[in-house]
Amino acid sequence: MAPSTTTTELITETRAEFKGSEPKKLPTYEEIRKAIPAHCFEKSIPTSVYYLIQDYVIIAGLYYIVPYVEYYASWPGLLLWYWFMGMFMSSLFCVGHDAGHGTFSEYKWVNDIFGHLAHAPIMAPFWPWQKSHRLHHTYTSHLEKDKGHPWVTEEDHMSRGWFVQNFAKFPLSGLFRWNPIYTFVGLPDGSHFWPFSKLFTNNTERIQCAVSASLCAICAYAAFVLCDYSVYNFIKYYYVPLLFQGLWMVMITYLQHQDEEIEVYEEGTWNFVMGQSQTIDRTYGFGMDKMLHHITDGHVAHHFFFTKIPHYHLPEATVAIQKVLAPYKNIYKKRSCYDFLLEFLRLNMKLEYLLGKGTGLLMYGVSSKYQNLRKSKAA
Ligand SMILES: [Zn+2]
Ligand SMILES: [Zn+2]
Repeated sequence: MAPSTTTTELITETRAEFKGSEPKKLPTYEEIRKAIPAHCFEKSIPTSVYYLIQDYVIIAGLYYIVPYVEYYASWPGLLLWYWFMGMFMSSLFCVGHDAGHGTFSEYKWVNDIFGHLAHAPIMAPFWPWQKSHRLHHTYTSHLEKDKGHPWVTEEDHMSRGWFVQNFAKFPLSGLFRWNPIYTFVGLPDGSHFWPFSKLFTNNTERIQCAVSASLCAICAYAAFVLCDYSVYNFIKYYYVPLLFQGLWMVMITYLQHQDEEIEVYEEGTWNFVMGQSQTIDRTYGFGMDKMLHHITDGHVAHHFFFTKIPHYHLPEATVAIQKVLAPYKNIYKKRSCYDFLLEFLRLNMKLEYLLGKGTGLLMYGVSSKYQNLRKSKAA
C-alpha cells in the first residue's frame, strides 16, 4: 500500500475515537496492582534455583540421548532433537530473564550470579541483554523507545531494499534473527557482545558487557573442549542448537507483541498502561507453557509487573489480570496458539509495516479497526 493522505486521515480519525474513549477503556496501574494477590510478588531463591536445575537436567538429558536419537532416527530425529533443544534452552533463558528483572531473588548479587549461570552457556550476554530488555519493558509499544524488535513504519519500509523488506518472510530467517543478527551484530539496538556498541552509554555498562561477553566466550570454549576440539561437532552439537534457541526466542517474543490488531503509540500518546496492554498471552499447549516458565501464556502479567512477579506466580497473576481487565473492552488479549510456528510464519508474511506515523497511533493496514474505517469512509 502506497502512502496516501487517506491513510493519515483514517488513522487520525481512529486516534480521535480511541482517545475519546480512553478514560473508560483503561484502568490505572494501581488498580491492576491491587487486583493481584500479595503472595504473587514474593520471590523465593529455592524455587528459582529449583527451576534452573530442572532446565540444566533436561538439557543434560537431551545431550545424553542424542547418540541414540541419531542412531535410531537419523537426521529427522536430529532435527526434532534440535527443536526440543531450542525449546529447553529457551526455558533456561527464561530463568536468566527473571534474574535480569530482579525477580529471581531479592538480592542483586544473587540475581547477577544466577543470571550469568543461566545465560552464558547459551551465548546470551547477561548484563547487556538485561539493559536492552529493560528498555523493551519500560517503553512497550512505543514507536521509537521500545527495544528488542523494531516497529517498522510505512516510511521505514519504503526506504528499504527488497532483501531487508522481505527477510523476515523467509521461514529460516528466524534461526538467525536472535543470534547473530540481534545480539552479536547488533541490528538494530547495538551489539550485546561489543563494549563500544551504541547500546552502552557509560563505562560501567561497557565493563559489564566485557564481563558478560567473556563468560559467554569461556562457555563456548568449554563446549569446544567437550566436543574434543572438533569444529564439526562444535557446530553440530552446540552452535546449531543455539540457532534453534534463537528461533524459539524470536518466535516467542514476536508472537507476544504482534498480531493484526496491535496498536503502537508515539511520544505524547503513549503511556505505560496503554503500552503494556498491547501485549498478548498465547497458549502453546501440550505442557509447553509450563516448561517455558509461562513466558508464553503469562506475558501480560509479566509485562505489567516485570520487576515484581517471578515466573512461577505468573499463572495466578494472569487470572487476576483477566478479572480486573474484563470490564474493559478489547484490552486483555489472549489467543490459543497450538499452531504457534505456523502463526509466527503467517504473521511475518502478513504484517509488513505500520500506518499512521505522525498521528500518535499506528496500526497495521489489516487491522479490523482500520478496515472498518476505510469501509465507512468509502460508503
Ligand atoms: Zn515482551
Ligand atoms: Zn521480560
